[in-house]
Amino acid sequence: MPELPEVETVARDLRAAVVGRRFAAVDLMRDDVVRLPDAAMFRAVLTGQSVVSVDRRGKFILLGLDGGDELMVHLGMTGHLVVCDPATPPVKHTHLRASLDDGRELRFDDTRRFGRIAYGSRALLEETRVLPPLGLEPLSEEFSLAEFERLLRRTTRSVKAALLDQARVAGLGNIYIDEACFAARVRPTKRCHRLTRAERQRLHEAIQTVLRAAIVNRGSSVDTYRDVWNATGRNQDVLQVYGRGGMPCFRCSTTLRRTVEAGRTTVYCPSCQR
Ligand SMILES: [Zn+2]
Repeated sequence: MPELPEVETVARDLRAAVVGRRFAAVDLMRDDVVRLPDAAMFRAVLTGQSVVSVDRRGKFILLGLDGGDELMVHLGMTGHLVVCDPATPPVKHTHLRASLDDGRELRFDDTRRFGRIAYGSRALLEETRVLPPLGLEPLSEEFSLAEFERLLRRTTRSVKAALLDQARVAGLGNIYIDEACFAARVRPTKRCHRLTRAERQRLHEAIQTVLRAAIVNRGSSVDTYRDVWNATGRNQDVLQVYGRGGMPCFRCSTTLRRTVEAGRTTVYCPSCQR
């Protein structure tokens, strides 16, 4: 599932590709991929509008339009936003094709259909919870050590569960939580209120380091993730623990343990992470 680094990569590429472009025509192959408003209205209101900005909030992409509203996209598990030549044969499960005024097309495909698209003012998207309440952006100024400590100290949940909660810290998922915990030498199953100050500090640092490095590497293509140009990222080659359960720890050679925490497969080193 695309997490912050993958979504940030898509948002940055989209910004370069579509800001200033106008939607000349909007075609939906599947109406139910649009959560707001209904599909007919969606086609009508989006057509003719120009993109003025592209932002990311958590795992959500928000295209600002010249009319003041926004086009929201969540990639879900398997969603792709692709900018391509209209002659490119559409892949199976292409749900949206929007023609741009430069002759290219913006497409959205999603095999498993956990992704979603919506259109409206930011206020409406938030009010309808199509854009749910989101917590701190881990790569922003607001993600201070003091704020992070405050969030962790008031919960007895595990580190994994707390960091999966998008209302607490936005954008983290299975890959980068396991990677940050490994980098911080913190066991993801540990209860937040039992973390030492030094552990909270290391985790705060590691989250940012791991995310920044993954953005530089254009994301992790561990399953179906592809960027706007349909290319894979490179960060899967440097993952330390994610997907490596049963294999030796790169740091100490102990066999990495795989468990389920907060309903998600979780991998850690029982010797490096306490
Ligand atoms: Zn180890």
